[in-house]
Amino acid sequence: MLVLGIESSCDETGVALYDSARGLLAHELHTQMAMHAEYGGVVPELASRDHIRRLVPLTEAALQAAGKSYADIDAVAFTQGPGLGGALLAGASFANALAFALGKPVIPVHHLEGHLLSPLLADERPEFPFVALLVSGGHSQLMAVRDVGDYTLLGESVDDAAGEAFDKTAKLLGLPYPGGAKLSELARLGTPGAFVFPRPMLHSPDLQMSFSGLKTAVLTAVQKVRDETGSDNIPEQTRNDICRAFQDAVVEVLAAKAQKALLDTGFRTLVVAGGVGANWKLREVLGGLSVRPPAAKGGKRPPAEQVQVFFPPLEYCTDNGAMIAFAGAMHLQSVQKAGGFGVKPRWPLAEIVKGA
Ligand code: ATP
Ligand code: MG
Ligand code: FE
Repeated sequence: MLVLGIESSCDETGVALYDSARGLLAHELHTQMAMHAEYGGVVPELASRDHIRRLVPLTEAALQAAGKSYADIDAVAFTQGPGLGGALLAGASFANALAFALGKPVIPVHHLEGHLLSPLLADERPEFPFVALLVSGGHSQLMAVRDVGDYTLLGESVDDAAGEAFDKTAKLLGLPYPGGAKLSELARLGTPGAFVFPRPMLHSPDLQMSFSGLKTAVLTAVQKVRDETGSDNIPEQTRNDICRAFQDAVVEVLAAKAQKALLDTGFRTLVVAGGVGANWKLREVLGGLSVRPPAAKGGKRPPAEQVQVFFPPLEYCTDNGAMIAFAGAMHLQSVQKAGGFGVKPRWPLAEIVKGA
């Protein structure tokens, strides 16, 4: 079965073709980043209009790259939510119109499920069950994944998502939008320990996280530097040191919470998904992760156990059509007739219940 996947939830138009027997055949992406950079953030109306412009050419490019034609498509998967209403509608209308014209079904896909399953697009695939650390621009969640469609929310950020914290911190350090990846590159040049920021909720007994306070800690540090130097410009090395300290704080919290989630569930496989999954420090720290279960009453503490950690290929970390085509292919049993569609700008992932 050949599934065309359409992603348009935010500022990336992604189109891909996934063959349930042969795997991913093609994927095309257009990012609107440069267009929104001028405004310092995503402008929803511009995003919707641009998706409309890109969908047909990207689909034709994907078909050509795969050596396929419209007639070969068996089903069209599209991101139904969550995301920007207008942007979602652009993809949903295109997917439904195309499917209707071809006489083929549509498969509505949850955007976060796409992110969650994206590590399965790698050559080395994780096996169920696993803990998923979903760290994107809009979400920071730990999920127990027992099977495709069987997800339990274990914990999440009570305020900013990790990616959002990266972007907001980058902005206040004067880096151009979207600054998350740039901040992480500058962190490479920073001296570890030159600044130390708090680790919010590190020792909370649950799997909740919080990242908005960190941004305030960075702001306070920046103001102090400005007062000391009497200039609005932060010296380059100081800025790099702040980037380093910020990244170290976020990564330490994410790693500790992921470790706790593994201990709580008893799973020994961790899957990282979402844009922050591209972060080098997160990859470094989680790559060597082990967990040590607590001692049973009166007994000796068992030795540390190695964790198998999987990251999606870098190109599938941020929004893309491949993950939607793939998730669609996993849900071929839930195909729907094209037409009468709706989008779900707000849609908790945990609402997707196995077999529902
Ligand atoms: P959601 O999927 O929750 O709706 P989104 O689709 O906007 O959000 P993604 O595309 O998965 O999120 O990821 C984008 C986020 O990833 C941005 O916030 C960006 O700053 C962050 N990001 C990308 N690369 C890096 C990096 N190397 N280090 C840290 N953050 C990064
Ligand atoms: Mg994006
Ligand atoms: Fe996303």
